[in-house]
Amino acid sequence: MDKKIYLDNAATTATRPEVVEAMLPYFTEKFGNPSSIYEFASQNKKAVTDAREIIAKSLGANAAEIYFTGGGSESDNWALKATAEAYKEKGNHIITSKIEHHAILHTCEYLEKNGFEVTYVGVDENGVLKLDELKAAIRPTTILISVMFANNEIGTIQPIKEIGEIAKQNNILFHTDAVQAYMQLDINVDDLNIDMLSASGHKINGPKGIGFLYIRKGVKIRSLIHGGAQERSRRAGTENVPAIVGYGKAVEIAMDTFKERTEKEIELRNYLIERVLAEVPYTRLNGHRTKRLPNNSNFSFQFIEGESLLIMLDMKNICGSSGSACTSGSLDPSHVLLAIGLPHEIAHGSLRLTLNEDITKEELDYVVTNVKEIVDKLRSMSPLYEDYVKGIN
Ligand SMILES: *Cc1c(COP(=O)(O)O)cnc(C)c1O
Repeated sequence: MDKKIYLDNAATTATRPEVVEAMLPYFTEKFGNPSSIYEFASQNKKAVTDAREIIAKSLGANAAEIYFTGGGSESDNWALKATAEAYKEKGNHIITSKIEHHAILHTCEYLEKNGFEVTYVGVDENGVLKLDELKAAIRPTTILISVMFANNEIGTIQPIKEIGEIAKQNNILFHTDAVQAYMQLDINVDDLNIDMLSASGHKINGPKGIGFLYIRKGVKIRSLIHGGAQERSRRAGTENVPAIVGYGKAVEIAMDTFKERTEKEIELRNYLIERVLAEVPYTRLNGHRTKRLPNNSNFSFQFIEGESLLIMLDMKNICGSSGSACTSGSLDPSHVLLAIGLPHEIAHGSLRLTLNEDITKEELDYVVTNVKEIVDKLRSMSPLYEDYVKGIN
C-alpha cells in the first residue's frame, strides 16, 4: 500500500482543512490584537469570544469559565499547581491515579518536592480506578482529586460521575484530564460534578499548541501568567488568535459529527479488535472491552518486542505506537500497562492503534494482515517463543 495508514490519533491528529482555512485570515489580513480599541481589532476580540462560547456550550459551561492555554500539558500543570497554592491553608494532600498522563504525574512529583503529599490510587486489570481505594485515601487535608476522563494508552473510561460525587460529598475539588475524552465522549461538567477540566486542540483535529482549562465559577485558582488582562488576568499574553479560531472550528465540526463519527469509530475499532484477537495467537487486549474510547485499541503480543513490531509496521506504511516508552528515551515499559498488572515482558510487546473516522475496513484488513505476518516473523526469531512451543509439544 502506497498510502500511509495513520493509526496514532491518540498522539496527534491531522488538522482539518476547514480548520486551516478558518485560521488563515487571522495570520494575514485580520492580524489585529484583540485588546486594541479600534474597529479593526474588534473582529479579533469577537473571534476569540465566539470560540470560547462554542467550547463552553460543548461542556454545558459558561464562556467565562473557559481559559485558553498552550495545550493539554499546560492546562494540567495549571490546574494542579494553582489549586495546590490557592488551597494550601486548607490542606496539602492531593489524590490522583497511577495511570495519569505524565503532565499530571510529573506535576505531582514536583508538588511532592514542595511540601505536598500525593496518593496514587490504583486501577483494576481493565484500568478502571478502584473507587474503594479512592474513598479510603481521602483525608481532612485533601484539597484535590485529579483523575483522567479516559486513558490515552489503553482507552479505559473512568467512572467520572462516581468520582465527581465522592469529591462533592467530601467538599474536595475535582479536576479531570479530558484531553482524550473531549469530543470522543459526551461530557457535561454539571452532571459530572467536574470543577476543572483540561483539553487540547491537536487531539481533535485542531491546531497544536492550543488547549483550554475549564475552571468552575467560584474555584479559587491562581493566575498562571502575570501581565496583561487577557483570560480575565489569569493567563496574560496576547491571545493566539489563529489557533483559538482553529480550535473553535475543530470543536464545531466535532460537535456536528459527534454521533455518526463515534459510532463509526466504535464499529471499526470492534472490527479491528475482534480480528486481531481471533487471528493472532497469544494476544491480549489491554483496557476495558466496552468502557473504552471509541477510537482506541491496545494489544499485547506475547514473545515479541513492541519496538521491532512498530519499526516493521512503519516499513509497511503503518503508523502505530508502542506500549513501552522506549521511543521517549526510556527502557521502562509503560506505567499504565504495569498498573493494570502486566509483567514487564508482556508490557514490552504492546501496540496501540488509535483510529479516526476516515479509516476504511480495507485499510484495517491490510493492517491485520501485516500485524499477523510481522508478529509471526518476530516470534520465529524469538528463543522464548521456541522454548514455549517446545514446552507445550
Ligand atoms: C496528549 C495528552 C496530553 C498533553 O496534551 P498536549 O496538548 O500535547 O500538551 C495530556 N493528557 C493526555 C491524556 C493526553 O493524551
